Amino acid sequence: MAFTLDKSAAAFSAAKQHIPGGVNSPVRSFRGVGGTPPFIAAAQGSRLHDIDGNQYIDYVGSWGPMILGHAHPAVTEALREAVGRGTSYGAPTLLETELAELVKAAVPSIDLVRFVNSGTEATMSVLRLARAFTGRSKIVKFAGCYHGHHDSLLVKAGSGATTLGIPDSPGVPEGIAATTLTAAYNDIAGLADIFHRHGEDIAAVIIEPVPGNMGLVLPRDGYLQAVRDLTAKYESLLIFDEVMSGFRVAYGGAQAAFGITPDLTCLGKVIGGGLPVGAYGGRRDIMEYIAPAGPVYQAGTLSGNPLAMTAGITTLKAIGVPGYYDRLSEKTAVLCAGVKAQAEKFGFELQHHQIGSMFGLFFTAEPVYDYDSAKRSDVGAFNTYFHAMLAQGVYLAPSQFEAAFMSSAHSDDDIAVTIAASAAAFAKVAD
Ligand code: PLP
Repeated sequence: MAFTLDKSAAAFSAAKQHIPGGVNSPVRSFRGVGGTPPFIAAAQGSRLHDIDGNQYIDYVGSWGPMILGHAHPAVTEALREAVGRGTSYGAPTLLETELAELVKAAVPSIDLVRFVNSGTEATMSVLRLARAFTGRSKIVKFAGCYHGHHDSLLVKAGSGATTLGIPDSPGVPEGIAATTLTAAYNDIAGLADIFHRHGEDIAAVIIEPVPGNMGLVLPRDGYLQAVRDLTAKYESLLIFDEVMSGFRVAYGGAQAAFGITPDLTCLGKVIGGGLPVGAYGGRRDIMEYIAPAGPVYQAGTLSGNPLAMTAGITTLKAIGVPGYYDRLSEKTAVLCAGVKAQAEKFGFELQHHQIGSMFGLFFTAEPVYDYDSAKRSDVGAFNTYFHAMLAQGVYLAPSQFEAAFMSSAHSDDDIAVTIAASAAAFAKVAD
């Protein structure tokens, strides 16, 4: 049967009548790659099912959270039970402490953790905390790193902002953007220069230790340690935004994988098991500045929501078992090696990156180590590849500048099918 998206196309037109651009988060609109986004009816394991009856092997995983795959039986069952006990109380629960303990056991740099509802909320709150704790106002971020859509950090952000060509959004006051200094990722000399000029004013450096929002970019040897050393020298705080990499590249996140201890950490995605959760945590003396322990205000009607906590607890217990990450990484390596072999067969020299179950490829023969080098990719070639994969039932993120995610629900057969689809897609790009 020919691949069609007729029902999705109609649904997309209808959605645009009611929702800006027809979507509730920009990159879902396929604006970067063109065409119609499949409207999803259901998801199970490694598969997404759309309203036209197509099914896809899913490497987006809701942009990272679905490490166990969709509708994992343990998570689904736990949620079913939890929902019968009520969906929100606005009062403390044992679940919050249980998830906090699990997070702390996995991420030793965290003494205290505060749960919020999204990654954006986590990074927004952590900046207020860093500024209050240090009494300084400036923040350093890295070009191509995305930390959510609040004003301070929507400056040279990657992700949808790159795809849509809106590096800085209108509506961000100049005064706020001016407190955000931008450095190039993987360039320690550039960061040292910023510290040399502004060191006394810098409250914090916020970094995706393994950036996944300009495509997947890996830190050079020693880079993260050098960032740690510089921040310590100037008594600025180091914030690891592990909303994506946390519980993804390793159970303890990138900080465990690279052995670096940040002062503060932001989490999200996996810790919510597919429900809306974010978190920020870190050193006790800093976190005790947060209300009601301290003076820095941050609150949330639905924060620590019992359903979200339940999904998070069940997910962390399932992925915390010995060998889980080794198996997931090995599976991802098999897929990446297979795709690379197919690319080479068709004469493409591409950049294939992988860490744990995060992976991605850049359509460029030159090494990619920062935002500028990522942007040298051939977006047209990616778009052709993307649509050829989609038509064969493989769902990748609709942008060259996003990472892909493996789940433990992906089977060897899924991987073999994906590699075969890749061969046909590269043939199309070569055409
Ligand atoms: N930080 C990072 C590293 C992210 O990848 C994202 C989202 O993709 C965010 C923060 C924002 O999280 P959310 O979309 O839950 O607000």
